[in-house]
Amino acid sequence: MLKDAREMSAAVVTVRREVPSRIAGGIGYALLLLVWICSLAMSVRLAGSAMNRFVGSRIDRLGRYGRAAVTALVSLCCLGTAVQAQAVEVHNMRLWSAPDHVRLVFDMSGPVNANVFTLDGPDRVVIDLDSTDLDFDVDKLDLDDSAISKVRTGVRESGGLRVVLDVNRAVVPKSFTLPPNEQYSARLVVDLDYPGASAVKNPIDPIEAMIRDQEIAAQRAQKEAVAEGNPEQAEVVASAVEAQPHPKRDIIIAVDPGHGGEDPGAIGPHGTREKDVVLDIARKLKQRFDQTPGFKAFLTRDGDYYIGLRQRTLIARQQKADFFVSVHADAVRSSQPSGSSVYALSQGGATSETARWLAASENQSDLIGGVDGNLSLDDKDEVLRGVLLDLTMTATMNDSLATGGQVIDQLGRINKLHKSSVEQAGFVVLKSPDIPSLLVETGFISNPREEAQLKSSAHQAKLAQAIYDGIVAHFRQHPPPSSLLAWQRDQGRGGASNEYRVQRGDSLSQVAASHNISMKALKQANGLDSDILRVGQVLTIP
Ligand SMILES: [Zn+2]
Repeated sequence: MLKDAREMSAAVVTVRREVPSRIAGGIGYALLLLVWICSLAMSVRLAGSAMNRFVGSRIDRLGRYGRAAVTALVSLCCLGTAVQAQAVEVHNMRLWSAPDHVRLVFDMSGPVNANVFTLDGPDRVVIDLDSTDLDFDVDKLDLDDSAISKVRTGVRESGGLRVVLDVNRAVVPKSFTLPPNEQYSARLVVDLDYPGASAVKNPIDPIEAMIRDQEIAAQRAQKEAVAEGNPEQAEVVASAVEAQPHPKRDIIIAVDPGHGGEDPGAIGPHGTREKDVVLDIARKLKQRFDQTPGFKAFLTRDGDYYIGLRQRTLIARQQKADFFVSVHADAVRSSQPSGSSVYALSQGGATSETARWLAASENQSDLIGGVDGNLSLDDKDEVLRGVLLDLTMTATMNDSLATGGQVIDQLGRINKLHKSSVEQAGFVVLKSPDIPSLLVETGFISNPREEAQLKSSAHQAKLAQAIYDGIVAHFRQHPPPSSLLAWQRDQGRGGASNEYRVQRGDSLSQVAASHNISMKALKQANGLDSDILRVGQVLTIP
């Protein structure tokens, strides 16, 4: 329920602040009301004259008062129908909590007019719904991990529903309505964005990001030199990069669990939801990378909430990912098909995406290499930009296909393959021009046997291990120049290293345990007199 009357008076203040739109809204309502009154008056008159024709003599006998009573009765009926047709019911509410926003969805019996605004002291978001009744217990909403500390509801003085969200941090609300579809009725969606919050739980370390930016800039300069027909310059750039002290950076893997939130993905015959099993597999995959020196993974989605497809590639770009892998489970109408498949971007998808990037003027400073704003292409002519983007896109696709081949080899060892080579399609999540990307359909959730397997933790771990093995195999063969793997290769040490670069969240005991040595031995080898590590510190492993 609403806490106090202040919200009502404060709402009036907000109305005054938003004068232009409120006046426009007011005129709209006045017009609607006028139309309604006119139609009501007409229907009353029509009903009245019909009555007169059919039961004329009897009504006449009732006299003036009788006729007035009938008219009043008829108009009351009309009024009742009109109100009934307009009232909308909220029959369910759903809440999805993400690291950078929370989404609240109202399932409604019909379309609704909503006014969403914020109030401060204390901070809260008010959602006013015209002619709406609530048939849902808001205490059932799970508010954990969201900015919403309490949901209260009340009936507005002017009728309709008021929902107040008490929030424990700054939020920027936005709302939109959705028409009914196969799965849901009409919906009102209210998103509360958290300004400045990261979309991922453990965002890239600033030092790592800087190393990565330098490497990307160098690679880009090299590509530009090649595109401009100046291979000697490209050599100079390459050797300049190698001359620096080796940063031994981690290779960053974006693991993207498909679907989430309102989008359950495919649903198996026993009700298993794709969004749940792919999140389990993705978490296991991230863990495998994080346990491996030289790799670090992050999840584009780490919970039950929805992220747009473009947003997923954007998150990968922001986190400076070296590789992007989207995890899904297939479904078809038949329960027969089974097995895993791996997709890379199709040539058609790549061509249309190149055109899109070249056409989108807002992306010009962000073209190729993802060096945001550092190296603008504004001064390059159209042809050169096209050549550069083509070079990048082709290299990215080749990397994706090669890695896809490795992943399919590994998957074939633990699971039936639906298709024995890498498939190509125009999936949006695969369209980053500069991040090699794969989409793995782990199995058919529509096949009862595979549905059961996809739910099993042991099988999930096997799938994660296979995807991991495939990607790692590719990077061991083709390590990015500033990576630990490249350094190891140059040292001729293969996969074994006697050095470890400290990452965010590492503790001395953890590093010691992951290398099967005692903390004492690790401290001795590095001359440490405390247990405190700093990010980026390189430890010698005895
Ligand atoms: Zn899917």
